[in-house]
Amino acid sequence: MSYVDEVLAQVKEKNASEPEFLQAVEEVLNSLRPVIDANEELYRREAVLERITEPDRMIMFRVPWVDDNGQVQVNRGYRVQFNNAIGPYKGGLRLHPSVNLGIIKFLGFEQIFKNSLTSLPIGGGKGGADFDPKGKSDREIMAFCQSFMNELYKYIGADVDVPAGDIGTGAREIGYMFGQYKKIRGVFEGVLTGKGLTYGGSLARTQATGYGLLYFTREMLKSNNDDIAGKTVAVSGAGNVAIYAIEKAYQMGAKPVTCSDSTGWIYDPEGIDLALLKEIKEVKRARLTEYAAARPSAEYHEGKGVWSVKCDIALPCATQNELHLEDAKMLVANGCMAVAEGANMPTTLDATKYLQENGVLFAPGKAANAGGVATSALEMSQNSERLSWSFEEVDSKLESIMINIFHNLDDAAKRYDKAGDYVVGANIAGFEKVVTAMMAQGVC
Ligand code: NDP
Repeated sequence: MSYVDEVLAQVKEKNASEPEFLQAVEEVLNSLRPVIDANEELYRREAVLERITEPDRMIMFRVPWVDDNGQVQVNRGYRVQFNNAIGPYKGGLRLHPSVNLGIIKFLGFEQIFKNSLTSLPIGGGKGGADFDPKGKSDREIMAFCQSFMNELYKYIGADVDVPAGDIGTGAREIGYMFGQYKKIRGVFEGVLTGKGLTYGGSLARTQATGYGLLYFTREMLKSNNDDIAGKTVAVSGAGNVAIYAIEKAYQMGAKPVTCSDSTGWIYDPEGIDLALLKEIKEVKRARLTEYAAARPSAEYHEGKGVWSVKCDIALPCATQNELHLEDAKMLVANGCMAVAEGANMPTTLDATKYLQENGVLFAPGKAANAGGVATSALEMSQNSERLSWSFEEVDSKLESIMINIFHNLDDAAKRYDKAGDYVVGANIAGFEKVVTAMMAQGVC
């Protein structure tokens, strides 16, 4: 049995109840085969794959808080510190009822390679809780965030582990958590990113993941002799990533025609009204039914369906496993030529394979959505030097980073005779740097 197959079997046996984690490990290890096979003896002796698939530590804790009726609620909090070979752990905090250990492990594992691809010194981690911020008052959100930090503070720090936002964790939640950390530790340090601009946040962090996704997609198209201008774009999600992907798509001359949330989706053939979408999602925190009510050109549909719309480019920006094989078939049948993942692992393995086999350019999330964490690392740099850079400075660094990521993985794919396979390229390029650092640091 090959070393990769041996480790895959072990990981499956040890983590049988964590399908998302197994899916992520399977994708990464399978695409690393050419690298591992070429150095099998060395990697096996060093147990490189066993080490990289086992987190440094997994922290789980009780988060008690009091709701507006005086009732005590209890959630489960998580922080998985996966790998710090190239820098302090870095990765977001997800607040969503679906959160469990397997989901946090999959996200933390992906984060190792994503962070490596940014070329910045950050390791991989992820955290969160099975808490649902939807429908909660500001006071309840604050009570939850303070209680969450009452435990998490023990494990994080500006040079140790620097969490950030993710689904359900935006500027409001980061603010409450930062305030509590400061109160408990008595230090003002860059322990979280995605902070407000008045207390150490970075300009362009809010836009970074969506903008970065479009910088990456444009570079991928350019390298395939095409351009974004004039293209019709289908976007899923209506959160931070989706909104700023839509904004940058417009700036690049494309037309985004869809968006979605967990209850339904919008098809707006005239192009999504960005100001209206921001008002509904960022200000009112309301549902997309309000968008349809205010916009005569838009159709609202319950459930899922964004991928049934005819488009040139698809940008899944909501959550994991939201683009299935049947969706991939519809996209191909409708002439879609590129899929770039804004969310983490939104495309299932069989859907990815189908898209690639049918000539669709496919950009995996760990590369295409790395703009968020890259800009978080730029926020860390600004905090360390106690300076703030201008929007243009951060944005132009972000653009260079995304262009660089594309060429990094494009070159890695070519080196292993897999030209155009950006999944393989991203995994190999991310892995090479981390593994070199791990081996240089000995068995630890
Ligand atoms: P937000 O919470 O801002 O938005 C998420 C969007 O996706 C919302 O419209 C939400 O709808 C929808 N959504 C969430 N879960 C589900 C679900 N189970 N089914 C259907 N729709 C769902 O999150 P972000 O935009 O920050 O994150 C989106 C994705 O991008 C995630 O995969 C995240 O890990 C990834 N990502 C985010 C980065 C960032 O900087 N924010 C960086 C890199 C990756 P509703 O409001 O109804 O729940």
